Amino acid sequence: MRVLRLEIREHRLPLRESYAISGQSFDAAELVELRVITDTRNVGVGSAAPAPEVTGETAAHAAAALRGPLADAVEGRALETLDAELSSRLAEALPALPAARAALDIALHDLRAQERDVPLVALLGRVHDELPTSVTLGVSSVEETLEAAERQLARGFRALKVKTGRDLEEDIERLTRLRERCGREIALRTDPNMGYTRAQLAAFLERTRALELELCEQPLPRGREEELTSFAVDARAHFAADESLHDERDLARLLGSPQPFGIWNLKLMKCGGIAPARAIAAEAARAGVALMWGCNDESCVSIAAALAAALSSPATRYLDLDGSFDLTEDFARGGFALRDGVLSPLDRPGLGVELDA
Ligand SMILES: [Mg+2]
Repeated sequence: MRVLRLEIREHRLPLRESYAISGQSFDAAELVELRVITDTRNVGVGSAAPAPEVTGETAAHAAAALRGPLADAVEGRALETLDAELSSRLAEALPALPAARAALDIALHDLRAQERDVPLVALLGRVHDELPTSVTLGVSSVEETLEAAERQLARGFRALKVKTGRDLEEDIERLTRLRERCGREIALRTDPNMGYTRAQLAAFLERTRALELELCEQPLPRGREEELTSFAVDARAHFAADESLHDERDLARLLGSPQPFGIWNLKLMKCGGIAPARAIAAEAARAGVALMWGCNDESCVSIAAALAAALSSPATRYLDLDGSFDLTEDFARGGFALRDGVLSPLDRPGLGVELDA
C-alpha cells in the first residue's frame, strides 16, 4: 500500500455547553480532519485537536504542517516504510507541532490495522477489555456543579472529574457537596489545572481526606514538580501529571527519586500520537507509574485512537476520554461504544470510524 496524498479539512465545532477551567473558558473545538489517500480502497483517518494553552500549537499551525512538511514526509511512500523511525525523525524536526504529528500517526496506524483487517486495538495488543471513563465538570458554582453531576450520572457515567483551582474554599465546598449527593460508589477526580500553591495543596488534601478523592491532577504549575516531592508517598501516588508531561522530553524530571507523580495523564495531542504515547507508557510500566489517558475537545477519531492505545498498555488504570461527547457535531462517527460510562472499541478494521462522503 502506497500513500498518494493527504487531504486536510479544518473544522470549528461548537460545544454543547461552554465551560471554564482554572484561568480559561471554551465554547468551540478547533479540529483538523486528516484523510490519507492510498493506492488501495483504504483511507487512513486522523485528527488533530491542539490545545494552544498547553502546547502553544493552534489548529491553523497543525493544518499548515500537515499540508507542508508532514505531507512531504509520506506522500509517494510505501506504508511499511513509515515506521517508528519516521515518527522520531518528525518529532525532532517539528517538536512544537505534536497534534499535527498525532493526526498523521493516527491515520497511519488506522491504515496498518485496515491492511491486516483487524481492529487497531488488536494490532497494538489488547490487554484490557474495556474501561470506564470519567466526564469533566467545569469550574462553576456549587449548585451548577451538582446539576451538571446529576445530568452526567443520569447518562450512566460513574466517574466525575471536577475542574477546580479557582478558589480553594469553593473547591472544597463543591467536592464535599458532590460526595454527599453522589454517594461513595461514584469516583471523584479533581483537576486544579496548576491553580494551587504548595500550602493550598496541603490544606486541600487535609480537608478533603474524608471524601476519598481518586486522584488530583496537576495541582501545582509545570516546573514546580520538586515541591511535590515533599508530600508523603501515599499523597504523591494520587497526584497525576498533566501539564508537567507533554512528551518524552519531560520524563527525566518525572522519573527522579522521589517521584512527584504516581500517575501520568497521557494525551496523544501533547506527545505526538500513538507511537510516542506507547513509548511513554512502556516507561510508566517500568517505573510503576499508573496511566490515565486524557484528551482535549476532540473528534471520535482521535478518541478511538487513544482508547486503542490505552487498552493495549498494561500500566493503564484510568480513562478520561470524554472529549467527543460535548461536540454538537463531528466530522466522523463510530470508533467506540459507550455503555453505562464504559468505553470499548468496535469490532471493525482499523479505528472503526466512518466519514461523510
Ligand atoms: Mg488536566
